[in-house]
Parts: sequence; C-alpha cells; structure tokens
Amino acid sequence: MANLTTQGIVLRHADYREKDRMLTLLTPFSGRVDALARGCRKPGSPLMSCAELFAYGEYVLYQGKGRAGVVSFSLIDSFYPLREDYDRLRYASYMLQLLEAQAIPGDRADKLFQLLIRSLKRLCYLPLEPRAVTAAFLLMDAALSGYRPRLSHCVRCGRRLGEDEARLFDAEEGGLCCAACASGGAPLMPLNSRELLWMKDVLQTGIEKTALPPADAPLPLLRKYLEGRLEVSPPSGKGLL
Ligand SMILES: [Zn+2]
Repeated sequence: MANLTTQGIVLRHADYREKDRMLTLLTPFSGRVDALARGCRKPGSPLMSCAELFAYGEYVLYQGKGRAGVVSFSLIDSFYPLREDYDRLRYASYMLQLLEAQAIPGDRADKLFQLLIRSLKRLCYLPLEPRAVTAAFLLMDAALSGYRPRLSHCVRCGRRLGEDEARLFDAEEGGLCCAACASGGAPLMPLNSRELLWMKDVLQTGIEKTALPPADAPLPLLRKYLEGRLEVSPPSGKGLL
C-alpha cells in the first residue's frame, strides 16, 4: 500500500498501549483520519511533536489494511501560545471538537481545514477577541457547509426586511423571520440590529477587517444554529457564552 503525504492537524488523541497514541486528524483532502503514532511517547521519539493536540504539519501516513499509521511528520505550527491562555484554549478546543464531530472520513474538507488553521492563528497570534473569532468561525463554517444564514429577507414570507425592524432568527429555516410571521412554527431566537450587522459584515469582509465591536458577535445563537444543523454537540461548547 502506498504512503499518503498530507497536511493535517490533531483534533483529538488518546494514549494507546505503553508508548503509542491514537490520533484523530483533520486533513484537507481525506477528511477525518485516524492514525496510530507508534512509539511517540518514548523520550526522543521523532513522532513526539505530531502527537499533541493542535499539532499542524505534514504527515506521511502508511495506509495498511487496518488503521493508518504515522510514518513521519514535519511540524508547521504547534500553536503553543494557546496553552498559556486558558480562555483562548477553551475556544480553540471547541473548534477542534466541532470539526471532529463534523468531518467525515474520506471526504474532502480543504475549505474547513483552511478555516480552522486561520481561526487558530487568529486565536493564537492576533489580539482579537476569542469570542468574536469563534463566532466568525461558526458563521463561516455554516456558509461553507451549505447553511449560510439568510439575513435580508424573511425566511417564511420572503418579504425584504427594513433596517429597523424587530428580528427573530429561525434556526430551522436558517435565517431571519419577520414579526408578522413569528407566531407558530419552531421557536425563534431574538437577534438585535447590531448583531445582524456584525454577521453581514463578517460574511462580507471577514473577521480581521470588520470594525464592529466584538461584543456584537452572537456566539450563542450561531453555536445553537450550526450545532443544530450539523446535529452535533461538542462537549466543550457548553461553557462558551
Ligand atoms: Zn415574514
């Protein structure tokens, strides 16, 4: 069997036998991959650096009949500063858990992979508010996964919504609902005009270019929306507000 050379990042790991570790990787073109890093917990092992959470680099994987194994690894970034900031680490861990639940083995995931790497760099190296970075991550993930929220028209009657109208978010239909259509149907979540503006701006210009205050990032709403759509519930999401 041929070796597979691929970029990857560790989403999860579990110790295995005495000196090994089982890794769950996200890769751009093979989706989620489980791979055994044999001997990586031995002092001086060349595979030591590949077997940590967030280890991002180039993996050479042996694909046998059973599970894949790591042959060699070259580190691009360990995102080490995340370990020194508990708050940022919580948000970064949530991103890993969400993608672990979302990614499918064998499915192309290059856009989500890039989104994750960029979002981790923002959390790790830029003075951006982690809550806003995570909300932007969820919004972009939704857009890439086919759930881009509709933010201009009512999802129930199709009417264009005015700037100052009261708005509710319909998580099942994936967009805004006008006050007239609000009775009946699935429960709705309130979304104020600043939060709406933030979502539109981030979708258009990106999290680094928006000048809107991070306090306006509707993180709980986006979390509930995307987790509901993907039917996943990463355990670390509960502590994030
Ligand atoms: Zn309506």
